[in-house]
Amino acid sequence: MICQEPEIHASTHADPSLDLPVSMGEGIWWVGSLMPGDPFQCHVYLIVHGDQSVLIDPGSVLLFPTVLKKIEQIIPFSQIRYFICQHQDPDITGVLPILDTMELHPEAVVVSHWRINALLKHYALNLPLVCIEEQGWELDLGTRILRFIFTPYLHSPGAFCTFDVESGTLFSSDLFGGFTETLQLFAQDESIMEGIRFFHEHYMPSREILLNGLFKLEKLPLRWIAPQHGSIIPEHLIPLVFSRLKELDCGLYLITQTSSNVQRLVLLNNLLRKSMERMVMSRNFAELVNTLLQSAKPLLPVKTMRFFGLLNDQCIRFGPETHYRGALFQPSEALRSRLGTTLESWESGRNSPLLLLPGADLSGEIQDPEVVLELLIPLPSPGVTIVNALATLGLTAGVTLDGETRHVLEQLSVPLGVAMERELIFHSLDREREKFYQISTRDQLTGLYTRFYMRDAVARLCELHDRGHQAGLAVAVFDIDHFKRINDTYGHQEGDVVLRQVAGVLLENVRVEDVPVRMGGEEFVVFLIGSEQPGLIGIAERILDKVRALTFTGSLAGERITISCGISFRQVREPLDQVTERADMALYAAKHAGRDCIRVSGG
Ligand code: GH3
Ligand code: MG
Ligand code: MG
Repeated sequence: MICQEPEIHASTHADPSLDLPVSMGEGIWWVGSLMPGDPFQCHVYLIVHGDQSVLIDPGSVLLFPTVLKKIEQIIPFSQIRYFICQHQDPDITGVLPILDTMELHPEAVVVSHWRINALLKHYALNLPLVCIEEQGWELDLGTRILRFIFTPYLHSPGAFCTFDVESGTLFSSDLFGGFTETLQLFAQDESIMEGIRFFHEHYMPSREILLNGLFKLEKLPLRWIAPQHGSIIPEHLIPLVFSRLKELDCGLYLITQTSSNVQRLVLLNNLLRKSMERMVMSRNFAELVNTLLQSAKPLLPVKTMRFFGLLNDQCIRFGPETHYRGALFQPSEALRSRLGTTLESWESGRNSPLLLLPGADLSGEIQDPEVVLELLIPLPSPGVTIVNALATLGLTAGVTLDGETRHVLEQLSVPLGVAMERELIFHSLDREREKFYQISTRDQLTGLYTRFYMRDAVARLCELHDRGHQAGLAVAVFDIDHFKRINDTYGHQEGDVVLRQVAGVLLENVRVEDVPVRMGGEEFVVFLIGSEQPGLIGIAERILDKVRALTFTGSLAGERITISCGISFRQVREPLDQVTERADMALYAAKHAGRDCIRVSGG
C-alpha cells in the first residue's frame, strides 16, 4: 500500500488521522467525517480515476461540508463522474439533492440498483439514475473495473456491494459494518467483531439472508473490506470475520417487538436455536432437555423440567428421576384436568397459555423444596388443538416472567411439542415391542415361558453352572395323568381349564429364578436352580400335592387331577438335550410306577 499522491495533505493507513483524507492505496481514499459520540460512523470512499472518478455512498447532509473539503484536497469535485449508492438510507443518499445544485462532471450519474433508484427518483434530481443490472453488474472505467454483487435485504431490498478488482477492495455498505464507541478506522484485531456482531444482530434480517450474501462475497479475492460503518477490515482478519458472521444469530426482532435489550434477545434466540438444533441432531430426549435447561438458565431461574403426555389414555411422565425415559404415572388432579383439553379452553380468559402456579406440585409426588413456582406450558401437536402433552418448569426464587420471556417460552413450546410427540411415538413403539416380546416368551394359555424363551434362558443357566457360579441345575418334567380322559369327558375347553390350573400351581411353587416352561400339550418342564437334591425334590413333591388338592367348579366339579414327575440333575458340561432326556426317562418310570409320583434319574 502506497500513498497515492504524497504531496496531498493527507494521512495514511499506517498512521490515520481522521481529520484528513486517509489513503488506502491504489487510488482509494477514505473521505468520511467523524461524528462525535455517534455509534454509526458513516464512511464515504473515493476512487480517484481521472475524470472517471467514483464516490461510493456519498453520504449525509450533516457530514457533507467536511467530506467535500477532504475530496477537494485530492481532486476537483467535478472529476467525480459516478456516485454509487449501495442503499438508500439518508446517511448515504441524503446529500444527493445538494449535489444536484452543484457544478458537477457533465456526465455525472447516480449508480444504483433499480429498487433503490425507484426510491431515489422521489428526490426529483436532475442527475440521471443508472441501474447496475442494466450495466451487466459492472462499471468499466477503462483501466479499472468495479463489479457489483447483489446482497438483497442486507439490509435494504436492493442492497449491493462494490468490488474494486484492481485493489481487491470490497465496499460492503452495511455488511461487515459495526457499532463503534471510538472509531478505529482500520481494524487491528478480532476485538472489532464485538461491534460487528452487535450491528448485525440488530440490523440483518435473518441468518439465511446473511449467509446468502456471505457465500457470494467469500468467493472474491478480497484484500480489504471497506464498510459504510465501523472499521475497515484488512486481509488477515477477513477469514475470521466471515466465519464468525456465519455463526451469528440475526433477525432477533422476529422474536419480540418489545425489547431493546439486545443481550437478552441474543440469549432468547440462542435458546430457540439450540433447541431446534438438538432436536434435529439427536434422538435423545434427555440430551435435548439438558441443552434447554442450560440455555434457559441465564434467562430464568429454572431448577427442573418435566414433561407429561397422554398415550392411549394413560399418562406418561418424562423427568430427571427416570433420566427422561417415559414412565407411566398417576397424575395429580391439577395436571389431569389440563391434559387432553383444548388449547382454546386452556387459554380462555388469558393472554398467554403459560400458567404460573405458586408452589404447585403438579407431578403428584415429587416435591422439590427449592421450587417456588411451577410454570405450565401446553405442548399442542402441530395442527391439533388438543393439549396432549405439557411441560412444567420448576422455578426457584427471583422469577420475573416478563412479556418477552413469555413470548419466547410460547414459541419454544412448538419445537418442544414436536419433540414430545416424537418421544411419545417412540414410547408407544417400545411398548408394542415389549408386547410382542411378551407374546413370544409367554405361553398365552398358561402364562408359562415358551420353548422359544427357554432355549436362551436355559443356555445361560447352563453356562453359569459350567463355570461353577451356580451350585446345581435340575430339570423336572411334569405330565398330567390321563389327560386325554379329561378332554374326552368334558371337552377341550374344560381341558384348557385344567391346564391353566395346573400351570398356576407350577408358577406359584417355583422360585422367581427358576424357569417354568410349557413344552407343549400338557407337558411342563421346570429348570430348578439350587444345590440340595432333597430341597429340589421337595419342591416337586409340593407341586404334586397341590395339584392333587385342586378343586374345580362347573362340569369339572368333583374331578381330581394328578401329575407325574421325572427329575434329573445336570452334570457339569452335560448337554441340555441329554439331561432333559434323562428327566423324560424318569417321567416314563413314574408313569410306569402308577403315576402321581416322582422318579429321579439315576436315583
Ligand atoms: P398319560 O397319563 O400317559 O400322560 O396319559 P395322557 O392321556 O395324559 O396321555 P398323553 O400325555 O399322551 O395325552 C396328551 C393329551 O393332551 C392329548 C391332547 O388331546 C391333549 N392336549 C394337548 N395340548 C392340549 C391343549 O392345549 N388343550 C387341551 N385341552 N388338550 C391338549
Ligand atoms: Mg399325560
Ligand atoms: Mg403327555
